[in-house]
Amino acid sequence: MQATEDLMKKIMSLSKRLGFVYQSGEIYGGLQSAWDYGPLGVELKRNITELWWNEMVRSRSDVVGVDTAIITHTDVWRSSGHLKNFHDPLVDCRECRSRFRQDHLEGDRCPECGGELTEPRNFGLMFKTFMGPLEDDSAVVYLRPETCQSIFAQFQNIVTSTRKALPFGIAQIGKAFRNEITVRNFIFRSREFEQMEMEFFCNPDQWEKWYEYWIQKRFSWYTDALGIRKENLRLRKHEEKELAHYATGCTDIEYRFPFSGEEGYGELEGIASRTDYDLSAQMQGSGKDLTILDRETGQKVTPFVVETSGGVGRTFLMVLLDAYHEEEVAGDTRVVLKFHRNLAPVKAAVLPLSKKLAEEAQKVEEILRPHWPVVFDVTGSIGKRYRRNDETGTPYCITFDFDSLEDRMVTIRDRDTLQQIRVGIDSLEEVMRGLMANGWEEQE
Ligand code: ATP
Repeated sequence: MQATEDLMKKIMSLSKRLGFVYQSGEIYGGLQSAWDYGPLGVELKRNITELWWNEMVRSRSDVVGVDTAIITHTDVWRSSGHLKNFHDPLVDCRECRSRFRQDHLEGDRCPECGGELTEPRNFGLMFKTFMGPLEDDSAVVYLRPETCQSIFAQFQNIVTSTRKALPFGIAQIGKAFRNEITVRNFIFRSREFEQMEMEFFCNPDQWEKWYEYWIQKRFSWYTDALGIRKENLRLRKHEEKELAHYATGCTDIEYRFPFSGEEGYGELEGIASRTDYDLSAQMQGSGKDLTILDRETGQKVTPFVVETSGGVGRTFLMVLLDAYHEEEVAGDTRVVLKFHRNLAPVKAAVLPLSKKLAEEAQKVEEILRPHWPVVFDVTGSIGKRYRRNDETGTPYCITFDFDSLEDRMVTIRDRDTLQQIRVGIDSLEEVMRGLMANGWEEQE
């Protein structure tokens, strides 16, 4: 337990020091559970969302994307049931005044001090605000607590615009807001967060096939596109009693986070078979027809939906944890973030061996800059610079030395194997292209 708590502390301090994640408003003491992504963090986060978008939208002819408003029409939440039902059971400790979500507690006494707990009361999770100048009831609107609901509300428009036939999906990445009762574990649970969601619509007879398909497809995204170690991931099928009354199946993809409860796994993403519940609810609330003609069977149907719903922040935290290594190198301990090259915020560092070589080395940087995020690092010993770039997870360090002036060659060092190859500056772009596509092992 000690080691795992230490790991979280190390990740949090490294995140701040290197510029992955800062606490929001830190100079004023910090706003609890609000986080700002720094220069390296924003690159890593974009790499995650772009990999997801490429996999789920751009590479498929059967999925389209949308980007809908955060402040959503209140009737959307009325119809979906959020206004009535989206709350968590809140309990207070009568002794130490700590607050908990009752469904997260194992016993019926305070886990902090053993004190007596109050009866649970429902705590609404939606953030409320006002639209326009008047702050009265008629102006109340809500920040969306999930990105998917607008997909259902816009279903008919999207079908008309795209002429998509069943089966097909609609995807969205965006911010969601939940006024969580307790927030902890860094960016794992926050009140403002980002989701990557996809609703896949199919004929009601075909949900089982698509449900199984998307479970496998989503699991392999984590291992193949993000390079997460398989032994740290698992699928957890929800038991019957956990399922919402309308759902016919739900499976979570979980990662072995160093803090989470039962067996140490925490949810990254849920894949749920939600039947026609959401479309029917929006249809009933709006009085609009959200059925579709299934061209294959000739039937008019309210499609069934298989949803894949993941969190960007949780994926980000997992990527950092999975990449973090401490290793002995030449009698020294190096900290290295072994990001998959797809994820690395910076792909290459150009390092002149001496300051005298800076001007010539900068020309090497200029070759790479149009194609990849690169850094130029001239301060400190070469060993220090290697360590610095290992810590930020840069896969390739490119050293320009005195021989480079003569032979027009540079040395590429691989972050993980520490192997080096010498390549001509003329062919550097092509070699980098090969490395980025296939990795070091394939290149050799
Ligand atoms: P939990 O049980 O952990 O509260 P949930 O089952 O309510 O999660 P969903 O409503 O299924 O979560 O949301 C889909 C995904 O959105 C989750 O798998 C998670 O990655 C992300 N997510 C949900 N709530 C939060 C939050 N408060 N902070 C960060 N990410 C979140």
